[in-house]
Amino acid sequence: MSKSAFCCRSCGSPDLRLILSLGHTPLANALLTAEQLGAPEPVYPLDVVFCSNCALVQITETVPPEVLFSDYLYFSSFSDTMLKHAEALADELTQARGLGAESLVVEIASNDGYLLQFYKQRGVPVLGIEPAANIARAAEAERGIPTLCEFFGAELGQRLRAEGQQADVIHAHNVLAHVADLNGVVQGIAALLKPDGVAVIEVPYVKDLIDHREFDTIYHEHLCYFSLTALDRLFARYGLVIADVRRVPIHGGSLQIHAMRADAAVRSAAVQTLLAEEAAWGVDDFAFYAGFACAIEALRADLRTLLGSLKAQGKALAAYGASAKGSTLLNYCGIGAETLDFVADRSTYKQGRYTPGTHLPIVAPATLLQEQPDYVLLLTWNFADEILDQQAEYRRRGGQFIIPIPQVRVV
Ligand code: ZN
Repeated sequence: MSKSAFCCRSCGSPDLRLILSLGHTPLANALLTAEQLGAPEPVYPLDVVFCSNCALVQITETVPPEVLFSDYLYFSSFSDTMLKHAEALADELTQARGLGAESLVVEIASNDGYLLQFYKQRGVPVLGIEPAANIARAAEAERGIPTLCEFFGAELGQRLRAEGQQADVIHAHNVLAHVADLNGVVQGIAALLKPDGVAVIEVPYVKDLIDHREFDTIYHEHLCYFSLTALDRLFARYGLVIADVRRVPIHGGSLQIHAMRADAAVRSAAVQTLLAEEAAWGVDDFAFYAGFACAIEALRADLRTLLGSLKAQGKALAAYGASAKGSTLLNYCGIGAETLDFVADRSTYKQGRYTPGTHLPIVAPATLLQEQPDYVLLLTWNFADEILDQQAEYRRRGGQFIIPIPQVRVV
């Protein structure tokens, strides 16, 4: 897709301004096998733009979802933090909305059933929708979660409604940012909701991205970075009102919105307050986003200086968390095997593979104790508390973590 032809993913306006270019990078979740190391890796441009018409921040490149998600390696259940968040939310909604055996909870991009399992345990019927075939199978086989292996959009929402399936609660966590057909998904949600149903949607919050220099959350799977203002304009197009909003500390800072049909909803004070706050910091003004590129360049320089000086002192360095954000960080900062010996990761699906572009071997976390590197660069800084707890023994023996975001620090 040429940049001149690109129009806003939400409103269709061609009036877009460049915030940041991260160059051409490989797909952040395209981990390599040993046999693939010698072959050329496809790379795609990674440019972030601002829509002057509806305020949506977005990347311009759309990699086909079949390429991105066919063998998606991120299994939500591997994170304790995510599981606790999911169970608390299922509890809250089951009680608040009086859900029971006659209800239906649908999750779009239901992953391995990490969230729907908690509704199932409470006797509430569930339906997962998950396009990655291997993960949909795991949800059915391991958790007994009925799962449609399809991409969700207007067509599927309308088909389920025609089949008599409408939802009391629709969850879409960390998925709206991933879909190219943003309007189709919101239209599908509007079709699938019962008249008094609620859609609970979590998206990365653009304010946190900018304020905390979270540039590593930018990769080809994340097409959009939302403000409440931009979401409000998108949902209004389909007769939906954002009735409530919360800021949640997931994925470096997210918004959780509760959307309902316009005739069933009133805006909460929290929605009014956040919309007013966004107007005050300049959500509609390019000036707010304009300094981001300089801030990122400064962070890259700090990190490269620290790692270079440790390496010059003969220190052994490794990394933790073979995540997509780690891939963006390593590739943008130009940090690879000359600096880091390996990446440790809990996921057995990732161990034995190599990181995209930088080709670091991915090993089990136990390797940290076997090799005892002097410093570990924490690529999954959004789970810092959890990982530092898990690695207490490595730290007790003198190992130190380097946390790169929002500013480089050693702990
Ligand atoms: Zn727009």
